[in-house]
Formats: sequence, structure tokens, C-alpha cells
Amino acid sequence: MRTWAEINLDNLSHNVGMVRELSGGKEILGVIKANAYGMGAVEYARELAESGVKILGVACYEEACELRAAGIEEEILIFGCIPPEHVGTAIEKKFHLTINSMEEIDFLEKNSYYPKVHVKVDTGMGRVGFTMEQALEAIDYIRENNIGDLQGIYTHLSVADDPTEDVYTLEQMEKFRTFEGFEGIKYIHILNSCGSIRFGDKTYSTHVRPGILLQGIVPYDSKLQSEFKYVFELKTRILYMKKLEEEAYISYGKSYRGNEGDVIATLPVGYADGFNRKFSNGGSVMIKGHKCPVVGKVCMDMTMVKIPRELVPEVRVGTEVTLIGSDIAAKAEEIGTIPYEIMTGVGRRVSRCYIKGGKIVKIKSLVEVERNI
Ligand SMILES: *Cc1c(COP(=O)(O)O)cnc(C)c1O
Repeated sequence: MRTWAEINLDNLSHNVGMVRELSGGKEILGVIKANAYGMGAVEYARELAESGVKILGVACYEEACELRAAGIEEEILIFGCIPPEHVGTAIEKKFHLTINSMEEIDFLEKNSYYPKVHVKVDTGMGRVGFTMEQALEAIDYIRENNIGDLQGIYTHLSVADDPTEDVYTLEQMEKFRTFEGFEGIKYIHILNSCGSIRFGDKTYSTHVRPGILLQGIVPYDSKLQSEFKYVFELKTRILYMKKLEEEAYISYGKSYRGNEGDVIATLPVGYADGFNRKFSNGGSVMIKGHKCPVVGKVCMDMTMVKIPRELVPEVRVGTEVTLIGSDIAAKAEEIGTIPYEIMTGVGRRVSRCYIKGGKIVKIKSLVEVERNI
């Protein structure tokens, strides 16, 4: 394999257990949108189902269809807006749809559609959803006119990861309290990853909605990080090595000049694989426990690193390299982004290598579309 994402499903299942414990025993709605943050929605769905998760969340209709086509039978909620042209099939496939506006209710009514629905309330995220008053009206209207099977009511927190903004988060939760006591609603949910571990005891919601926590990443500075296990690591192997015979420029743009005697390794990974170009001259990778600096610009398909002198005798072409591992949060911060963006940026030609029971059980790559081992 050239460059691969190692995905540890044992750790995923460990993280499910941790979320259960820390959220006060609430049920889990497992968020696996964007291909489970780039790591494989179908594999995550299967593992989550095995761990007892009964409902999954995705961003759009197409993602929900991918799961059904793979034989996933769990409940699936689509967070995005109702896709008018797909509502018919969405109902056949038993998807739960999110209702964000009165127009969507009108649309269902006019077409006599009767999907499972969750009403989305905007308590302060400012993205989609009804205001409080509108939501109360919408719920009444849906119930009185029997438009759709009202299964859920939910809202989304915008700063649950920032303790300095807890007043705002608590206000959001206070607003949502109105809906917590609603009779006959199976799914009342509000807490994302940070919400689940920070405010589990502050709501009576039935479900939590973690995404990044399932990946083992605690998205705020917390001792709890050590209780979770990282699911994802991006790895590669050294492709080529050279010792500079004289001062020489490395990579595009002559932005780095190496000295005579420097040992430079070329790695088969570039920004097209999700190794961000902002790691040029400043980023680093780990080889046999040593930090090796990226030298020169990260290219589309290759990246050069300098091998520290003490490490030189231990490395050769083929030596394994960890590009991104348990340092993902720090790496993201270095380049002004968040772990979510690093994960979802992992490219298509990076093989996904799944580990379960301590062994590699499956590899998904461009050449072997799916291989069970
Ligand atoms: C992405 C998303 C989540 C999960 O967010 P995390 O920060 O990864 O826990 C939960 N709910 C909704 C509506 C989302 O869009």
C-alpha cells in the first residue's frame, strides 16, 4: 500500500461505550455523515449497529441511500433539508427526514407524503430550523393534520466545545427545554460530541448525537481525551531517500535549501491525499517515534521530510511513517483548522484499512474495491 488510513473498529466500539457512560446512559444517534468523517460510513454503520446503536445520522439523501444499499437496516435520520424529488423513495427506504420550515410541511401535505419526521429547532446555531414559536406551531399543525409521523424534535449546539461560552450553550438548552417534555416523541436530541460529555446531565433528551467523539477525538481541552481511543491514523512508507552531496533546493518554489550531508526522505503522500499543503516547511511526521520536519512545499502526490541525524541508521526505503495520529488536534491547530477537516480531506486514493479484533479485516482501495481478509 502506498498511503493508507488505519481505522480501528475496536476503538470505535470502545468510544461508543465511553459516550454511553459519560452521557448518563442516553441512547446514541451515531453521526456518520460525510462518509463517517472520511473513514467509511458503511463500515462504521456496521460496527455501530453491533455496538447497539439503533439510529444513525447523515447529512443528505445520497448518504442515507449508500447505507441502505449496503444492507444497513438501522434507522437513518437525514439532517439536511427534505429533497423534494426524493421524498417518495426516502419514505420507501424508511428514512427519517428533518423538517426545517413551513414550506416543507406544505409540500408534504400537498403531495400526501407521510414520512417519519423530526422537527428541527434553531435555538442559536443560526443555520437551519424553526424559531421556538414557529416550531410549536409547526408541531401542532403536523399533529392536528396528521402530516408525517412525528418521531423527533431536535436542535444543534454551536459552541458546546468552548467553556467560555457556556452561558450561550446553557441558554440554547434552556430554550429547548420546552420540547423535552413533549409526550409521545421517541427521539428528543440536542447534544453533539462536546455536549454529550459536558452537558449530559443538563437535559432530559432521549438521545445524544456524537460524531467526532466516536472517532476518539475530544474536541476541547479535556482530561477525558485519555479515556477515548483514536480510531484513525494516516500512514505511509518512505518511497525514496537521498543524502545531499551539496547544498540543494527541495521541492517546488525553492522554498527550502538543504545542507550538504542532510538526509532527505520522499514520502508518497501529498495534498491530494489529505496531507495539507499548509504543512509545507513547518509540519512534521513521526518515524520510529522521532519527529521529522517537512522540508519544502508539500506537492500533490509527494512530500519531503528531513531525517534527524540520530535516526538515519534506522530508516530506509519502506520504513513506516505516521503522518497524522494521536497528534491530530495539534496538527489541525498548526494549520488553522480542526480535526474534522483533516479527516474529511483524506483523499480517495488513500486505502482504508480496517482493524477489528486486533487484526486487519478489510482493505478498501482503488484497485481492490473491496477485499475481506
Ligand atoms: C455534524 C453533526 C453532529 C455531530 O457533531 P460532532 O461535533 O462531530 O459531534 C451532530 N448533529 C448534527 C445536526 C450535525 O450536523
